[in-house]
Amino acid sequence: MTESRAVPDRLRDRLLRMVTRVLAVLLLPAAFLRAPGRARHLACQWALGLRYPAEDLRGLDPRARKAFEDARTHAFWQDGQLIGLTSGHRDAAEQHRMFSEEVRRTGSFAAARQRVLPPEESGHVRGIAMDVRPTQGAYWLELHGGRYDLYRTYDNEWWHFEFRPETDGRPPVRMPHPGASPYYSATS
Ligand SMILES: [Zn+2]
Repeated sequence: MTESRAVPDRLRDRLLRMVTRVLAVLLLPAAFLRAPGRARHLACQWALGLRYPAEDLRGLDPRARKAFEDARTHAFWQDGQLIGLTSGHRDAAEQHRMFSEEVRRTGSFAAARQRVLPPEESGHVRGIAMDVRPTQGAYWLELHGGRYDLYRTYDNEWWHFEFRPETDGRPPVRMPHPGASPYYSATS
């Protein structure tokens, strides 16, 4: 990791982490009643759901969702880091709308593909891609996500991770930007 990747830790972030952790501890008894063997896992998901109320994990590939939840439970209880989901599964219509908007904005199909992929190429549509927050959480996932087959896949998107179990524990080659990936077939 280079110096430029160091993530500033503001007082506000530290306070919010502390509050969320207190919440999770308070939720432990209820989580224990619901799932005795998984209380810490469940309390963590509940607390993060309260911290990031807009997040929506529905539609993710079940294995990708499990990996994401397990990873952020680890980050939360062991290292005190929060990881929220900004965007997970997107349906093809939504992805198409985003891609079309980017084509309009940049005036170029090729330029648009460097930031947003068309639906047939998007990991979000397949339910294996997760955009996460905040930067500290993303940095944790970049360092430790491999244990859960979760990898940052693009240089220009610190927030974008994909569930890639097919690489057998080795990080996939990180691409400069979305449209550059050989993982997807070129359509230009
Ligand atoms: Zn993404």
